[in-house]
Amino acid sequence: MKITELLHTKMTLSFEVFPPKDEVPMDGLLETLSHLYLLQPDFISCTYGAGGSKRGKNMEVCGAVKKTGHTVMPHLTCIGNVRDDIKQFVSEYIDLGIENILALRGDFPAGWEGTKGDFAYAGDLIGFIRAEFPGLCIGAAAYPEKHLTALSMESDIGYLRSKQDKGAAFIMTQLCHDVPAFERFVEQIRKAGITIPIIAGIMPVLVREPVIRMTLFNGCSIPAELAAIMGKYEKDPPSFTKAGIEYTVAQIHRYMAAGIDGLHLYTLNKWEKITEIVRAAGIDNGIQRKEAATA
Ligand code: FAD
Repeated sequence: MKITELLHTKMTLSFEVFPPKDEVPMDGLLETLSHLYLLQPDFISCTYGAGGSKRGKNMEVCGAVKKTGHTVMPHLTCIGNVRDDIKQFVSEYIDLGIENILALRGDFPAGWEGTKGDFAYAGDLIGFIRAEFPGLCIGAAAYPEKHLTALSMESDIGYLRSKQDKGAAFIMTQLCHDVPAFERFVEQIRKAGITIPIIAGIMPVLVREPVIRMTLFNGCSIPAELAAIMGKYEKDPPSFTKAGIEYTVAQIHRYMAAGIDGLHLYTLNKWEKITEIVRAAGIDNGIQRKEAATA
């Protein structure tokens, strides 16, 4: 199913996973997915070459999700890909029955200064996929606190607008712990004529160091409430995780109250704590989601 069709009828819940390394069997991720499916997600997304790695098992993961009858969205980047590569990958996805794709520029591998492919920016990739495969539902990334390398918020939003104009049908955002900043961003992009639905990416707060690393890597801020948890439980990982889960549940409710169109949890291929969060937030089925949003 196309994600835009889902977004027309409900606030979506989705999970992001990453593919196992080439030498690692799929069993662990398939087991994780089997638990995530119990939470009735509307779709699963699978990253592509994040951190500059190769495509790896992205296609295999997407095929496995699709086989279970769940909607899936592969991520695809410009890194090292020429037009023919993109055509081949997208054709393979379509052969698997996949109808959605998140089209990204990708982060440059260490030592690279460009994509070393035919497309320099996500907008170019989106335009190409739209022209070659008009039936696909294409998502674009967005940055509520500005992309790390963007010259200004205004220019970043201008490029986001052009991603919509070139064929993106929905937005999926970078992690953003600062919900008021997210709300200001939504206001700004709506003023800029960006009308497509917005799915908020949420990074669960579970382990202190990776949360700090990923937040700073993406140039995002750490609000005082989260900083306090980080300070208080610096040397007490179990208490940090407990407080982090409560914080993440509260964040989910704040995002829902802000009227977002969908919630996308970066699972980091974990299911136990994600299940705890989703159940505690009361979002493990559509009806509760709507009630919670209006509560
Ligand atoms: P772009 O939209 O191309 O923007 C990149 C930068 O260039 C921005 O600063 C923008 O302002 C600027 N820009 C855009 N267009 C132009 C233009 N025409 N001229 C000049 N400047 C321009 N990375 C992976 O490698 N694999 C993944 O699976 C992955 N999944 C992600 C999922 C989500 C939800 C998000 C938010 C990010 C993901 N990323 C992933 C990271 C992403 O690839 C990086 O953040 C990357 O640096 C930017 O990608 P983009 O698609 O936003 O690029």
